[in-house]
This record gives sequence, C-alpha cells and structure tokens, in this order.
Amino acid sequence: MSKHPLIPKIVLHSINGELVGSENSETFDNVNPATGEVLCKVALGGKAEIDAAVRAAKHAWQKGPWSETSAGQRASILRKIGDILLERKKEFAELESLDTGKPVTESFHGDIQRAAYNFHFYSDLCHHQVSPSFRSDDGSHHTTIREPLGVVGLITPWNLPLYLASWKLAPALAQGNTIVLKPAELTPLTAAAMHEVFKAAGLPNGVVNIVQGFGPNSAGEALVKHPDVKAISFTGETTTGSAIMATGAPTLKKMSFELGGKGASIIFDDANIEEAAKTSARAAFRNAGQVCLAGSRLLVQESVASRVISIIKEEIAKIKIGDPLLESTTLGSLVCREHRDKVAGFVEHARTLKGVSIECGGKIPESMPKAGAFFEPTLILGVTQDSRLIQEEIFGPVLTVQTFKTVQEAIEMANGTKYGLSASVWTKDTNKAQFVAGKLRMGLVWINSWFIRNLHTAFGGMKSSGVGREGGQYSLDFFSEMKTISQAIDYKE
Ligand code: NAD
Repeated sequence: MSKHPLIPKIVLHSINGELVGSENSETFDNVNPATGEVLCKVALGGKAEIDAAVRAAKHAWQKGPWSETSAGQRASILRKIGDILLERKKEFAELESLDTGKPVTESFHGDIQRAAYNFHFYSDLCHHQVSPSFRSDDGSHHTTIREPLGVVGLITPWNLPLYLASWKLAPALAQGNTIVLKPAELTPLTAAAMHEVFKAAGLPNGVVNIVQGFGPNSAGEALVKHPDVKAISFTGETTTGSAIMATGAPTLKKMSFELGGKGASIIFDDANIEEAAKTSARAAFRNAGQVCLAGSRLLVQESVASRVISIIKEEIAKIKIGDPLLESTTLGSLVCREHRDKVAGFVEHARTLKGVSIECGGKIPESMPKAGAFFEPTLILGVTQDSRLIQEEIFGPVLTVQTFKTVQEAIEMANGTKYGLSASVWTKDTNKAQFVAGKLRMGLVWINSWFIRNLHTAFGGMKSSGVGREGGQYSLDFFSEMKTISQAIDYKE
C-alpha cells in the first residue's frame, strides 16, 4: 500500500461533519492507475451510510444553522472554499493525478483551478438573485420567489472528479440546499479532502455529506431511492442516467442529467487549417480523451484531408506519455486497467474492419509500467458512419477521421449518432459557421475553437447526451423550487 503523505490509510465518509467508516467496516481498494499499486482503502458506503447522511442533511436544512443563513453568508462561505482550494491547489492537483492518472499540469491548471473558480462564480451569483413581480389589472401584487429544494443528491463521474463535483456543489449551496455527494468509486480522493476545506471555510456540520461507494446496489442507488432526497444531479454515462431515472421515478425526484458525448470537429476547406488541426488534436487527446466534450470524431472536407491528417500526426508525435506526476507529461494513464482494455477493444475491432487503417498508436506503450493503464494516442482512418467506433463513446485517446464533400454531408455525419453534446465548426466563413451551428443537434457548438466556456451560459446535451442544463442561472434554477406569493390590494382612502 502506498504511503503517500497526502493520502489517508482509509478514505472515510464525511457525515454530519465527522469522518466515519462504514457501519459494517467494509472497504474497497483505491488503485493508482499509473502504477497499479493500491493507494489506500476506501470505506464502502451503502444504504446505512446514505440514510445517516440524508438524516444529517435533513436536520441541517430544517433545524440547523443552514436554514437561517442569508445569501450573503452563503456567498462568503463559497468564496472561502474557493480561496482555500487555490491555496492548496498543488496538493489537490497531486491527489487528482494520483487518482485519475491525468497529468499533474492538467489537474493544476485545469481541474483544481476551475473547481475553485466554480465556488467563486457562485459566490458572486448569490448576490444577484432577482424575484420577478407583477401587478395585475385588479391591483393585486404577485411575486415569484425561489426556495431551496432541501436535501439534494449529487452523483459524479471519475473523469474530472473535483471539477464536476464543484460544478454541482457550488450552485446547490448557493441556493441554500443541503447535500449528499456520492463521488465516483474510482476517484474518491479529492472529494474526501473537501471535508477539511468545508470545515475550514465554516460550513456548518451536515450541510455537505460525502458517502463513498459504488453505484448499483450500493451508495449511489440508495441515494437515488431515498424518499427525503428531493433532487438528483447526475453526470456520467448515458445508460447510468436511464437507470437512475427509473430508480428515482417512484419518489418523483427532480433530475438533471449530463451524459455521454461523441463530439465532432468539423473542418471545412476554408478554415485556418493549421489552427483547426492543432486544436482538434488537443480536443481528441486532452485528459487521454476521457472528456465528455472530447472531439473524438474528426470530419474533414476531402480537399484538405491529407493536410489536416499530417498536422494531426505531427501533434501526436509531440505528445509525451509519462508518469502523471511529472510536469513534462502530456498524456498520462487512463483511469483504470478495465477501462483501458475497453478502449483497446475498440481499436482491436477497428483492425478487423475492411478499408480501415490505424495511422498512429493503437497499442499499450511499452515504455510505461505494465501494471498501469496507459494507451497510445491513436488515429484511425477509413471508418464508416455505421461503425461502433463512430456510434459508441470510446472515451479514450482515439481519434477517428471521416471525410465529406458538402456542407450537408458534414451536418448529417455530425448529427448521425445518438449523442448530441458538442461540436466544433472550423471555417473562416462566419455565415457558413452560423448556418452549420444552427443545424447541429448539439447542446454546445464552438466556432473556430474548442472548450471555451462562459459559466453563465447553458451547459448540457441534446438527444442521449442529457436532460436539462447546468451553468449560471440554469443550475440555480435546478437547485431551487419556485413559489408565487400573491396579495390582493384592497385599500382606498
Ligand atoms: P458512470 O455512469 O459509470 O458513473 C458515474 C457515477 O454514477 C459514479 O459515481 C457511479 O458510482 C454512479 N452510478 C453508477 N451506476 C449507478 C446507479 N445505478 N445508481 C446510482 N449511481 C450510479 O460514469 P463514469 O464512467 O464515471 O464517467 C464517464 C461518463 O461520464 C462518460 O460517459 C462521459 O461522457 C460522462 N460525462 C458526461 C459529462 C457531461 O457533462 N455531459 C461530463 C463528464 C463525464
């Protein structure tokens, strides 16, 4: 077992402000995906721990100090949480990289920086809530106000652990809810470390409870089933979203789903080819392709295909596979061996297809530890639209390239999967870019860019990529209930 100074021997649950083990003392192993070694044990939560966490959250909401806080007090706690994360950024970045296998520079400049920013952003929004008012013809006065939902459940995935948890925690807290968070079983560390951050920021006990464990027949399912949990905000796979929707139906929960993606980078012949190709390579291989917004499908106009492909190959050659904790590493390990093998399985399938060529990568890198979960950045040409490689989410460092002749063909290919999360459109013709953006059934479309974000805007997917939207006011709306208060005015002098 690793003796890393930042990692406890056993990762515990955080319930009612206390670190506690599971009732039955059961644990599971947390493995470093880059080395295969066990980093620590993790308390295995189930129904009993979820029940205790929900009880604490319910008490904190109804009777505890949280029910009395003002928006200003919540804003100040959220700001402190963000500040502490920035102070401890290096430590959190290291934990995130040990847990996920992602390069520490990505965790430092991306995940943890953005997690802190999410808390700061919602701290500011606490001060800017409005309640619309209406005066009717009969003089009566009507105001719609927002109230917290009560206890909400947050279920998060492993690819951007703290970043995505903060994206839900911050708006849920801003609106005055109390929380039970169930982090992904593969990446418990940064969520667990938030226990101390919440305490140091002055968050009262029971406001955020963290229960570690698995999904089906475990903590995740128990959270979704719990009758006192009023809403579930979930990010993860599409099939898991369906299962959660069914499990939550009997208790009529409000639900928000951010699900899988199969992003397309569409490069037209009139684009800035160099920039389009370089950014498309980044969109495919950042975080080893384990990003819901990854541009995992490259659609390129026939006349510029060979130029684009050769620039992408140059970019792949520059990728430095290595120990995630080294600053020079640009491609770390995938999240676990099982997932790496799933990704490798897609590539093996590609080898059996006629007319398909694997131009780069496609193997487990020999230079890295055998017990790790590394995979080479892989470029695959000649795949047809109906192939599993185009239709299913691979969620690894694998980029497929398809060519098209016309604008119409590009739109049909981009839209031709069950997913509808994101796409990039590359062209210097802004009219064409807007036309294509309008035709794409995607929740997010970038023009001549990838992954630029403004946190006020709606974030989420169409089709099988999600239900509902997160971001800015949209998240605040999700984590609140509306109430209209009407008053008859009957006064004459
Ligand atoms: P996953 O669906 O396997 O697990 C996500 C979380 O759900 C985990 O905490 C897991 O324990 C829990 N869970 C699993 N089954 C459950 C059940 N039956 N009941 C309750 N909880 C359950 O997803 P993952 O493999 O951790 O993450 C990768 C997936 O997440 C990819 O599909 C990716 O596209 C998606 N994702 C989407 C977005 C987005 O914003 N749309 C962002 C990041 C990741």
